[in-house]
Amino acid sequence: MSAGQNAALVARIIHHSVVDGPGNRAAVFLQGCNYHCSYCHNPETISVCCGCGTCVSMCPAGAISISDGRVIWDDEACTGCDTCIHVCPHLSSPRVRRLTAEQVMEEIRGDIPFIRGITVSGGECTLQRDFLVDLFTLAKEHKLTALLDSNGSYDYMADAELMNLCDGVMLDVKAFDTAVHKELTGRGSEPVIENARKLMAAGKLTEIRTVIVPGVLPSEETIAGIADVLKEFPGYETLRYKLIAYRNLGVREPYNTLFRSPSPEEMQDLKAFAEQKGFRNIVVI
Ligand code: SF4
Ligand code: SF4
Repeated sequence: MSAGQNAALVARIIHHSVVDGPGNRAAVFLQGCNYHCSYCHNPETISVCCGCGTCVSMCPAGAISISDGRVIWDDEACTGCDTCIHVCPHLSSPRVRRLTAEQVMEEIRGDIPFIRGITVSGGECTLQRDFLVDLFTLAKEHKLTALLDSNGSYDYMADAELMNLCDGVMLDVKAFDTAVHKELTGRGSEPVIENARKLMAAGKLTEIRTVIVPGVLPSEETIAGIADVLKEFPGYETLRYKLIAYRNLGVREPYNTLFRSPSPEEMQDLKAFAEQKGFRNIVVI
């Protein structure tokens, strides 16, 4: 078995992460998303660069140039100051590379003895599905587990080729109520809920994730709703439910001043509520 040559837009690679799935993992973040969440902590991953050139003259290190309408980023010259992502008017970044799965594996080759697997996140990683098949094919050849961190918009179980290679999905359930979900993301919650059900039935649901934004998102309703959906399946109590406190770091204006972070007490209250609903494996971060 060998991987193809499908390239993806890669926003960044974290060589060792303990927050992107079980164990020590390499995390690959892809560029581009089909949701536009107001609370997004990585808004520079939402859009693909259109080559407008705004960031070029703003880079203090002269690390960005434009050629034939395409932005070129000089990795060596870049100091990582993030000015480019702050000035980009299109929720993008010039620091995105087009890489094949083989190139990604080459970058993490030295990490392989120390990691349990690879997690692909975003943006929304399933928008670059062919690359995922290539990367997960290589992951399996190296005896690594392969996980998706995904927003629930993809029909995972209809894609047998991908799901035969994928060990599980860490699924964002941003809101159970479809109107609330649509207001936050631009799309309703129905596909996400249906995916939670199908993935659980197939043993491919690794984790549910919900970001807690007090006064904006009805967190208890979301926890109760997803519990109702999953409780028909044996073992739902032990499914990991990650409750993620909203933080304004990285969030774009004006949302960074509109939303507030939950207090530790509010997070503990929600954890207790999730326990009441039957979840036993709750992680609060
Ligand atoms: S982070 Fe962006 S603005 Fe800063 S040096 Fe690198 S390319 Fe230039
Ligand atoms: S990264 Fe943003 S500002 Fe820079 S060229 Fe691309 S779209 Fe324009």
